Amino acid sequence: MFAVFIDQDSPRTRYVLQEILSRRWNTALAIFTNWNEFKASNEFFKIEYTTEKRDDSHSFFIQRENIIVEEGVNEYFNPTTNAYHISENTKKHLSLRIKNIDLSHSEKSRMLSVLDEPYPCLFPNDGDLGFDLFSMAFYFLSRYEEFQRFEEDKWGRFHYKNSFVSELHYNPSPVLDVAIIHFLGLMGALEKIQLPFDVQPTVDIDIAYRFKGRSLGRTLLSTFRFPLHLPHRIWSYLSRKDPFDPNNTVSEYLKGQENQSRVFWLCSSKTNGANKQVQRKYPPFQSVIRSVDKQTNIGLHPSLSTSPISDWKEEKEWLEKTTASNITHSRQHFLHLLFPDTYHILQKIGITDDWSMGFAENVGFRAGTAYPFHWFDLSKNEETNLCIHPFCLMDVTAKNYMKLNPDQAIDVGRTLKELVFIFGGRFAFIVHNESLSEAEGWGGWKRVFNSWKNPKIAVTSS
Ligand SMILES: [Zn+2]
Repeated sequence: MFAVFIDQDSPRTRYVLQEILSRRWNTALAIFTNWNEFKASNEFFKIEYTTEKRDDSHSFFIQRENIIVEEGVNEYFNPTTNAYHISENTKKHLSLRIKNIDLSHSEKSRMLSVLDEPYPCLFPNDGDLGFDLFSMAFYFLSRYEEFQRFEEDKWGRFHYKNSFVSELHYNPSPVLDVAIIHFLGLMGALEKIQLPFDVQPTVDIDIAYRFKGRSLGRTLLSTFRFPLHLPHRIWSYLSRKDPFDPNNTVSEYLKGQENQSRVFWLCSSKTNGANKQVQRKYPPFQSVIRSVDKQTNIGLHPSLSTSPISDWKEEKEWLEKTTASNITHSRQHFLHLLFPDTYHILQKIGITDDWSMGFAENVGFRAGTAYPFHWFDLSKNEETNLCIHPFCLMDVTAKNYMKLNPDQAIDVGRTLKELVFIFGGRFAFIVHNESLSEAEGWGGWKRVFNSWKNPKIAVTSS
C-alpha cells in the first residue's frame, strides 16, 4: 500500500518505516533506493523521503533530517519543535469516528473539540508535511532522550520531569500517534486503515496477601510495628480471609476482560525493603498464581535486584515451574527501566514482551504512543524483536504522586481513554491487588478502577 523512496539507507529509517507504515496497520510497504523503480511502482501512497525534493517529484515529500541516518547518540542533541493543526481530511475522518459512537451530545462535543487543538511536532522543516515525521517517530520510539544524560532519581530511573513530553504544554495525548494520524489523513490513507481501540487493565502483584504467607518472624515483627492492624490481623486469622487475596480482588475485577488483561507476579525468593512478596513456598500463593493463569494472561514482575541477571532468571524459572508454562512477558517492579541494560537482560533471559513503558509520577505516554512497538536498540543501532506495550495511567500515580481524589482520577482516566479512542491504540493502565482491596488508604477507589476498565467507548463503525 505504501511505497517510500529513500536517498540514504539506514537501520533507523527501515525500522521506523516498518514500524509506522507497516507493522502498526498490517499494511504492505515497499522501500526503494532506486528512483526509476520507485517511479514505476504503482502503490497507492508514494512518499519521497529525502533531503531535497526532486524536480520530477510525483509523490508526497517528507524532508529528511540527519538523526535518522546517524549512528550513536548525541549527548547534547535537543530536537526543534513546532505546532500544527490536524489536517481537514483527518478531522473529517476522526469526526465521523466520534459521531458513530453511542455517547451523549456533550460527550461528543468534548471529544470533537480535541480535533481543533494545536499539537506539537518535532523536526519542523519545508517538506509537504511541515516536519520530519519519521525522525520524530524514531526519537520517541527509540527513547533517544533516555540514552542521553538526565538527572536520575535515587533508583537511577528516568522521570516524567526529565522527559521531553513534560515540557510540551498541550493536552496529554499520545503526540506521536496524533502526528501519524494527521499525516495519514493528509495523504488520504486513513480511509484504508482500521484504527484499533481496546481497554487493557493490567495488575501488578507485589504483595499477594496482607497478613498471610509470612514467616513467623516477619509476622511478629509486623505485629509490633503496626499495632493498629491487630484487629484486622485477628479477623483475617479467624475468618481465613485476606483483604489482598488475588482470588477476590484481581479475579473479580478482571471478569469479562480476561482476554485483554495481564497480571504480573513478583516472585523473589528474598524479601527486603523493596521486594515484599509473601513466601514462595506458601501453598495458597502458588495455587492463586495457577488459578489466575487459567483465568487470564500472566507475566513476571522482576524484583528490584543488584544482581538482576541471575535473580530474574531464577524468578522466571520458578514462575514457569509453578504454572507449567512458558513466561515471555514482564513488567519491571517500581517501573525500574534503565536503557539499555534492563532490556538487554530481559532479552537474555527469554522475555519477548515488556510492559514497563510509562511514567510513575505522571499520566501520559512515555514513548508518545498508545500502540505496541518493537524496541530499537540505540546502543547497537539495530532493531530488535522485543515488543513494548505502553501504558498511560497507574493507580499509585493518580492517588499518591498526583494527589487526585477519586472524582478527579475518574476524569483523568476518561480524558486519556477518549484520546486513545480518537487516535487509536490501547488504553492500558496499572492497578494493584492492594488498591483493588480498598484497604490501606484506598477506600472509595474501586469505582475509579471500574470506570477506567469500562470499555464504554465502543466503535459501531469506523
Ligand atoms: Zn511492583
